[in-house]
Amino acid sequence: MTLLRTLTGLALGALPLLLAQSAFAQDDFEDAAALGVCAAMSGALIMIPIVIIAVNIAMIVWVAKDSKARGMENSIVWVLLVFFTSVLGLVIYILSRPKGDKVACASCSNMRLQSLVKCPHCGNA
Ligand SMILES: [Zn+2]
Repeated sequence: MTLLRTLTGLALGALPLLLAQSAFAQDDFEDAAALGVCAAMSGALIMIPIVIIAVNIAMIVWVAKDSKARGMENSIVWVLLVFFTSVLGLVIYILSRPKGDKVACASCSNMRLQSLVKCPHCGNA
């Protein structure tokens, strides 16, 4: 009987301790989760400018290639416009570039505007 009482006493005494401990563990878990969310968010925050820079570089490269293929002499001006104004410059470029389909040049296989008399890359007809 004494043993049982001791065990019960121990169990009852230990119960609040266990509860406190599990609450503590829960707190730790929430802290860890908050830390994880925090790390993921700062990771995303670092990624945003990287993605924006990558998209801008892609737009600049595309405008440089496209304007060359369309035989535009002021291609550098368009590249600079997109460099400084980003998507706005890209929209202005797309609206004002010579319209038409691009085909692969028979002589140099670079892309050229179909309606051009001479290839802007190799000068062949
Ligand atoms: Zn060519």
